[in-house]
Amino acid sequence: QAKQAGRGVYRFFRDELNAVNQSRLKIEADLRRALENNEIHVWFQPKVDPLSERIVGAEALARWVTANNEIISPDKFIPLAEEIGLILPLGRHVLRQACEQAVGWPQREEGELSVSVNLSIKQFKDPNLVASVSEILDQTGLPPARLELEITESAAMMDAQKAREIVEQLRNLGIQIAIDDFGTGYSSLSHLRHFPVQTLKIDRSFIRHLTTDERSASIVASMFHLANALEIKVVVEGVETREQLDKLGPIGDALIQGYLFSAPQAAHDFSRVLHNMDAPVGRA
Ligand code: C2E
Ligand code: MG
Ligand code: MG
Ligand code: MG
Repeated sequence: QAKQAGRGVYRFFRDELNAVNQSRLKIEADLRRALENNEIHVWFQPKVDPLSERIVGAEALARWVTANNEIISPDKFIPLAEEIGLILPLGRHVLRQACEQAVGWPQREEGELSVSVNLSIKQFKDPNLVASVSEILDQTGLPPARLELEITESAAMMDAQKAREIVEQLRNLGIQIAIDDFGTGYSSLSHLRHFPVQTLKIDRSFIRHLTTDERSASIVASMFHLANALEIKVVVEGVETREQLDKLGPIGDALIQGYLFSAPQAAHDFSRVLHNMDAPVGRA
């Protein structure tokens, strides 16, 4: 009796496992096909100068838009792409799309709009990274100074010497480098001193409690302080409310990226905003 029940349980798990594996295999195949079929889109979220309330650049954020218009978030498919060895072609696709779009954005007297693109750690370690970025810049015609690549703190900290070399090679192309999700990883500040980055992006986890928790506010202030000392620009992610923006004001100068101004938008919507907008950006 017990033996039989045991077998039943075993069969149950085996079937479950097959179901899981199958759906996983299916998702993998779907993602490969999605890339071939141009279902990986690039959306843009503005970075805003809070004083002028003008857009000064945007971050490119990948979206998987399926045939039946379901929108799948990058938190779901980027890790999968990394696991199944699809991140390099996917990353190149995103970079190319982002540069192509940015070339078409209107010119501005007060400075050209920049575009920021996320790099996964595998892309960062790819020996062909610099060649491939350079090729995409040539093909799209985007001036290198308008491109910023975002690397996470953990990618930057992997192997200090190696990481610095890669960043220097990228810098030699004329592009900008940002450290993304700053404060969430484990980074040595002395290391940052030798790291030729232009921007720190403060992770939104610090902003969430900014107005209610004085310690969050102190941590944010110390990150600004560090950035100022190193002459690095600050971008604050995840600003959702006027109160958060007001709290940041006295802390220091920063660009703001958050739902207060705008969520990420499809490329054509973002481009329309830019073309219609020689007035300040309206708030969401
Ligand atoms: P990230 O690079 O830190 O991008 C910022 C994320 O915060 C975006 O999520 C953005 O939509 C979200 N966000 C911005 N402002 C607010 C706000 O005010 N409130 C809230 N709740 N969220 C806000 P998204 O687009 O879902 O992307 C998630 C992560 O996926 C990104 O975090 C990035 O790490 C990764 N990712 C996205 N696109 C790519 C890509 O093309 N390549 C790679 N390697 N990673 C990507
Ligand atoms: Mg980012
Ligand atoms: Mg971030
Ligand atoms: Mg983040």
